[in-house]
Amino acid sequence: NLSDRLERSFKILKGEGKITEINVAETLKDVRRALLDADVNYKVAKSFTDTVKQKALGMNVLTAVKPGQLMVKIVHDELAELMGGEAVGLNLSGRPAVILMSGLQGSGKTTFSGKLANMLKTKEHKNPLLVACDVYRPAAVEQLKVVGGQVGAPVYSEPGNKNVNEIADHAIAEAKARGNDVVIIDTAGRLAVDEEMMDEIESLKNHVNPDETLFVVDSMTGQDAVNTAKEFNDRLDFNGVVLTKLDGDTRGGAALSIRTVVTKPIKFIGTGEKMEAVDVFHPGRMADRILGMGDVVSLVERAQEQFDEEEAKRLQKKIQKNQFDFNDFYNQIQQIKKMGNLKDLASMIPGVGKAIRDVDIDDNAFKGIEAIIQSMTPKERSHPEVLNNSRRQRIAKGSGTNLQEVNRLIKQFDQTRKMMKMVTGSKMAGMMGRMKG
Ligand code: GDP
Ligand code: MG
Repeated sequence: NLSDRLERSFKILKGEGKITEINVAETLKDVRRALLDADVNYKVAKSFTDTVKQKALGMNVLTAVKPGQLMVKIVHDELAELMGGEAVGLNLSGRPAVILMSGLQGSGKTTFSGKLANMLKTKEHKNPLLVACDVYRPAAVEQLKVVGGQVGAPVYSEPGNKNVNEIADHAIAEAKARGNDVVIIDTAGRLAVDEEMMDEIESLKNHVNPDETLFVVDSMTGQDAVNTAKEFNDRLDFNGVVLTKLDGDTRGGAALSIRTVVTKPIKFIGTGEKMEAVDVFHPGRMADRILGMGDVVSLVERAQEQFDEEEAKRLQKKIQKNQFDFNDFYNQIQQIKKMGNLKDLASMIPGVGKAIRDVDIDDNAFKGIEAIIQSMTPKERSHPEVLNNSRRQRIAKGSGTNLQEVNRLIKQFDQTRKMMKMVTGSKMAGMMGRMKG
């Protein structure tokens, strides 16, 4: 029965309430594995888990979650912090603002140029001009024109001219004349870093002095992405990173490694070939993705938000004085309901999760109980002992239930109260005190 289950869950929780060296070590092993699976550089993963360990030891634990799950939350927040905390926008202060793309061939520069033009048009009401500075392959200019056509942005190109500095100058003059407030310069890449390409892009950067130089990188290239980022950053000192091809099953570890190695913000992610498949980079979401444990993290957050320490203390006092009444019962149900999907939540409770996995619970489960409590008078709620047979019959009618259901609820309530009284004192006090992390 219910009290047995609760009893058991208390036992399981005892001694697990604080984060210890042992459960830290266990969880961090999982975390490190997740990071390596996600292509995070080995050294980065190691120093990261060391930091988390320091933070986690001795932290308090919510009753509704296991220490391991709290660890995941700590890890998640630390990851998000490491990847920049907040999303970082573009500097568009120039008149026109000039944005220079850099990166290897195939990384997604041309595609992202189109996506960015589209975003700026639709979200910022800008009027961007695309500039074709990939002058070696005629197909590259064609591709930019196709992309520009898709998003309705003009494309500036100079057939025959191989001097990209000149093309950029002319394009910027053209933008001023035509009233384009942003100039997006698409450039040539190579399959691997080579001197000629680096010289060209570095010279172009110094020549146009862009407001933003973005480094575009294919997230599927894993460790190579980090090395490439470092080489480009050494030469260009770029402002931000665009991480493309995150639509596959790549888990985004490159984001963490790149950020750690070059200490530049990741600003956008590409999630597909279509012009709409782009998003501002959100460190929190990427942390979810890297960990592959988003559900746990949000559950912990929800539990933390909803448990109120003051309320817990107040309740504890009432229980000790045997004053736990139907008002408290009702409030507790509201607390539980606020935490969202009950089944998810219940399955997280140590010891209880498995036992109730097959039980059908949803928010409606409380409807009858709520109706019964609402049909009680204030006096009946705070002094349940007055609930004699005629009162019960009245409540059954008023709540649209029947006498049997009313009797059952009152019986359950009495049992709960007894059980709470029994386990109160040290155990309950300790648990309640730990509700807030
Ligand atoms: P560039 O050489 O750097 O200009 O790269 P492109 O823009 O030509 O992109 C190379 C290939 O990657 C093209 O086939 C694009 O459609 C594709 N691509 C670019 N970004 C993404 C993305 O975010 N997701 C997917 N799945 N494909 C992308
Ligand atoms: Mg291109």
